[in-house]
Amino acid sequence: MHEWALAEGVISTALRVAIEEGLEEITEIVVMVGELQQVDRDAFLFALEQLRTQAMRRARFTIEPIPARLRCRVCGEEWFFKREALDVDEAEAVHFLPEMAHVFIKCPICGSPDFEISEGRGVWLASVRGVRMVG
Ligand SMILES: [Zn+2]
Repeated sequence: MHEWALAEGVISTALRVAIEEGLEEITEIVVMVGELQQVDRDAFLFALEQLRTQAMRRARFTIEPIPARLRCRVCGEEWFFKREALDVDEAEAVHFLPEMAHVFIKCPICGSPDFEISEGRGVWLASVRGVRMVG
């Protein structure tokens, strides 16, 4: 259940940003989640809802996926990983174990399975919107 740890991190960072920005109330929190990050979106949203504080009682949580971007180590080609291109079993394997991506995905130009993930990992707070204190 690392979704709870991630949610705690997001909530505490959002609160710190709110203080720095002089926000009286937080209205929206946007979190970016890498497609290859092993995060259960529903569990993550649930955790955020449970952990919301008074200052964000009416805030909307938005989780934006970051598409996985891959870079071939052989020819340098960069492309976006498309989950639809895999069958269901493969997609599940890749979801639960990003390292498995190397077994199923090959460079579209040279066919090499030797690539690195240049984007699509990690979880971070993208934006915090709110109502500024008057005065
Ligand atoms: Zn290549």
